[in-house]
Amino acid sequence: MLKNNAVRKDFKMLSETMEGYPLGYFDNAATTLKPQSVIQAITDYYEKYSVNIHRGDYEISYQVTDKVEKARINMADFINASSFEQIIYTSGATESLNLVAMGYGLTHLKKGDVILTTEAEHASNILPWFEVAKATGAIIRYFPMNEEGLITDIDGVLSSDVKVVTLAHVSNVLGHINPVEEIIEKAHRVGAIVVLDGAQSAPHLKIDVQALDVDFFAFSGHKMLGPTGIGVLYGKQQLLDELTPLLSGGGANARFNMLGEVVLKGSPAKFEAGTPHIAGILGLDAAIEYLKEVGMDDIHAYELELRDYAYEAMKEMDHLKIYNPSARTGIIAFNVKGIFSQDVCAYLSKYGFALRAGNHCAKVLHEVIKTNDTCRLSLYLYNTKDEIDRFLEVIKDITLEKTVELYI
Ligand code: PMP
Repeated sequence: MLKNNAVRKDFKMLSETMEGYPLGYFDNAATTLKPQSVIQAITDYYEKYSVNIHRGDYEISYQVTDKVEKARINMADFINASSFEQIIYTSGATESLNLVAMGYGLTHLKKGDVILTTEAEHASNILPWFEVAKATGAIIRYFPMNEEGLITDIDGVLSSDVKVVTLAHVSNVLGHINPVEEIIEKAHRVGAIVVLDGAQSAPHLKIDVQALDVDFFAFSGHKMLGPTGIGVLYGKQQLLDELTPLLSGGGANARFNMLGEVVLKGSPAKFEAGTPHIAGILGLDAAIEYLKEVGMDDIHAYELELRDYAYEAMKEMDHLKIYNPSARTGIIAFNVKGIFSQDVCAYLSKYGFALRAGNHCAKVLHEVIKTNDTCRLSLYLYNTKDEIDRFLEVIKDITLEKTVELYI
């Protein structure tokens, strides 16, 4: 299916142009395009049954409630959670990660406890833990990494004072798949819980939270063909029972009285105060249905084929420096020697290519990879070798003079 580019017809935006050129969308790590089925699911909600859930005492409300709760069951199945009660809808990976840090870190950590993470984390998976460290006196420690951003030691940093290990399953800057199976197993041996930021893995790899034995797993819908403003936190049931919600309000409580005594519902309701993003949940449900139909293993294999195709050509270009030669996902982090990354991407944009430049919200990674910013080419199931050929033609002839001409 993927080989024939059959999926492209499902993404209307792929027939758009940018600067008069066919759109070459290579910014999939930032967000992905949406297939027609996702757009339809969202439109159907607003056009046909745009009512509230869990609250209305009439047939349409029962039906939409049913759709949302079926979506939750489908999501549990998608990541192989043992129960739909372990799927909490949030606004995205950022909120999911904050929920764990504030709801578990603040209540379970004390002075001297260690939060173990990496220098490659996205701000959303490190700033909340800085807050926790400040409030509790816990200490942040980092896995050692080599210049390519690969973790070089696990045993040496996993001492008994480590209480939380939190890291990206896949790095959003370098695309490395971290050795999470080994980390989780060893972290559990010292009594630590493991939080995985799955923002860049859930869209591209088959996820099995039970096989991973991960404690919390967070991801965003919009990076996996779904709408913005919706994401998921998975947690082990016992930890969800202990987790304090970020929000209080309607839908999350079983009862309360004038004395301020509140009895919360169980998970997931206790974490989902307020009217949920119903259209987002239904859109995300259509997205995972689409991904399942194509097949996560095929998606990953196809992305690797594209990545290797681009990488083999790019590594022969002396004016390029590639920072993640050994990554096994569809991300290539590179610079054009002597040209500022943002100027490179602005130049590529003139030829229809969408890439992101900068530090990609991982603001301490420069200490490891020795550059403040990179251009990031990130692929997904609808990209093609033809697009890469066109990209290679442009990048091969880029010069400082040509990028400067853009501003004259
Ligand atoms: N973690 C990683 C690894 C990411 O790439 C991103 C998005 N760039 C996030 C967390 C945050 O995701 P969101 O902005 O959707 O909350």
